[in-house]
Parts: sequence; structure tokens; C-alpha cells
Amino acid sequence: MIPYGRQDVRQSDIEAVQKVLSSPFLTQGPMVPQFEQSICSATGVKHAVAVNSATSALHIAYLALELGVGDILWTSPNTFVATSNAALYCGADVDFVDIDPDTYNLSIPELKRKLEIAKGAGRLPKIVSVVHFAGQSADMQAISELAKIYGFSVVEDASHAVGGYFQDVPVGQCTYSDICVFSFHPVKIVTTAEGGAAVTNSVELATKMELLRSHGVTRNADLLHEKDPDPWYYEQVDLGFNYRMTDLHAALGVSQMGRLSEYIDKRHEIMARYNDALAGLPLKLPAQMSNQVSGLHLYPIQVLEHNRREVFDALRAAGVGVNVHYIPVHTQPYYRELGFSAGDFPEAEQYYSRAISLPMFPLLSDADFDHVVASLRRILSA
Ligand SMILES: *Cc1c(COP(=O)(O)O)cnc(C)c1O
Repeated sequence: MIPYGRQDVRQSDIEAVQKVLSSPFLTQGPMVPQFEQSICSATGVKHAVAVNSATSALHIAYLALELGVGDILWTSPNTFVATSNAALYCGADVDFVDIDPDTYNLSIPELKRKLEIAKGAGRLPKIVSVVHFAGQSADMQAISELAKIYGFSVVEDASHAVGGYFQDVPVGQCTYSDICVFSFHPVKIVTTAEGGAAVTNSVELATKMELLRSHGVTRNADLLHEKDPDPWYYEQVDLGFNYRMTDLHAALGVSQMGRLSEYIDKRHEIMARYNDALAGLPLKLPAQMSNQVSGLHLYPIQVLEHNRREVFDALRAAGVGVNVHYIPVHTQPYYRELGFSAGDFPEAEQYYSRAISLPMFPLLSDADFDHVVASLRRILSA
């Protein structure tokens, strides 16, 4: 089965991890700061906090922005459940903003409309968590203008978008957000096996997130209450977690980050070939915005005239491991228990009802690519 996404682990990656295995530090050694530095270099952001997943990164990002009981976080329903779950971990409420039918990102007109209503009701969000679906940035400039007017914080869930650009600026530079989060799960653009990072230009937010990643414990003299500490002394100054990344994972990450632009170029090559090969079929192909470069985590198509389930099954039967991104979060049983229902966010539901993600990853061979396209053509003409 050709997967929809898969990692590219090379001999140099394996050697980088092996080197850590025979070093004094398997965790809390030099590789995590080096990986953080590689993220800062790639994005131009000032601070990076590497953790064991993007889910952990979202959690500490929301906590650092003081999301808590009585607050609301808004996000897109077209995302993985982690984006909104992390707000529930904080004791906050969640609401969703429907998507744009072309970019599948959070709709700006819909966000404006909803903010006006929320303002009237005295129930504005504390954070809007913006998902860059499939790797293409949402309109961050428009969102940051609204953030200033309505007074909310902005987090970018850029799990799909490391290596992408918005208006010639790398995603993750945080020009229009407080914190940006990346995922390094193997299906994403670069991998650390499990792993994530939260990046920011604010030293205060970075310091808070560093504390939260490791139990809220510090040895940093600036943060200690005790002014004349003994050499073994540490203090717990906040209630944190063990969300640390290990040096093994970080070494893999440093090695992979060296190929970030190579990976993005290769994904764009595959997109261009799909766009050519699928033109004219009864499909809606993913729209590419002109003022940006997508990270291209996914290549989602919409099936316009055929039954999506039948096309999906036929592709799987042909050995094409397609997938669907995403089941709208508000339709999940857990979220229905919280009061959401099918019909609440019709654009996300309409998109979901027709969506299929085709294989998109740098190691997709020409033969496999041709097989995907030929299978799809055959199925759609049957
Ligand atoms: C993958 C993903 C996450 C979660 O990432 P993990 O590193 O697996 O925790 C969160 N949000 C989005 C949009 C994702 O695609």
C-alpha cells in the first residue's frame, strides 16, 4: 500500500542518533538546544522550546498565555483534535470558526462576524488558535489586525507548515502571532519520531514554556525566590509537566532540519505534477494562495461528482493508501457531549464529506505517483 505520508530517514540520521546513544546524555544534553537553534535559524524566530509532541507544545503555549477556567479558545473545526483538546486540558471552553471553502483554513469573514456577536455577548475568546491546514498559512495579517481590535492572543498550529512562507516570511517567525507550534510526527514534514516545538519572540513566554515543559522546576538564579542558593538547589515555581524531548529525538531532528528546504521543494514538485495530471477531472484541487509557499503536508482533493466512499474504497483496493483530513472536531462524540452538533459548521462538514488526501511525501516514487494518478483516472471514468 502506498501511504499518504511517510518519513525519509537516511543513514546520516541513523548515525546522528547512534552518536547520542553512546554519549553521556540520552536526555537533557546538548542536542535539544541544538535542535531549538536549528528551528530558530530556519524560521528567524527568537526562542524555540522543543517538547515531546505538538500536543504538549499547544498545551504549554495556551497555559503560557494564561488560558484557564472561564476562558474560551476558538479554532478551526478542520483540524486534528489536539488543537482544541489542549484548551480543554487548561479547563477552558472551546468554540469553532467555520472554514473558507477554498483554502479550508479558518474563514476571516466568519471570524469577524463571530467576534462582533461575541463582543455583544461579552464572551470574546482569549486565544484564537489558527491552523495552517495542509501547510498553507491562514491570512495571519488579517487575524492579527482583528486580535488588536478585539484583544485576543494568537497561536498558530503550524503542525503542517514548517518550511512554509507567508508573505515571504517563514511560518514560525511569529510576525503576526504570540506563539507558533510545530509537530515532528513521522507523517509531518520533518520528524523526530514523536516531537513538537513552541516558538515565540517573547522572552517571557519562552521562559514560562521552558518551566512548564519540565515540572515548573528551575535553577535559573533570576527565577529563584532564594537569593543565596546552595549549589544543589532548585525550586518549583509553577505546576509543570514532563514534556521534555530527549537528545535522541533532537539529534534526529537536527539531522532532518538540514533537509527542510529540499523536502519543501520536492513536495512542490509533486503538487505541480498532481495539478497537471488531475486537471479536467471532476475534482476540486487544492487552491494555492499567491502570497505564500505552502509546507504541503497534505494534498487534499474534493470528489465533486462521485461518491467519496466509493472512490476512497477503490483507491485503497488499488493499493493507494489514501486518508481523510479531517473529520470536523465538533462532530466527535466527545465534543457533541460538550453541546456541539452536526450542522454547526457547514463549510467544514461539506468539505469533509468530499475530501480525500492523496499520497504526498518526498520519497513518493515516479512509478507510485503514476499509479495513483492512473488509478484515480480509472475510478472516476468508471
Ligand atoms: C499532527 C497534528 C497535531 C498533533 O501533533 P503531535 O506531534 O502528534 O502531538 C496537532 N495539530 C495538527 C493540525 C496536526 O496535524
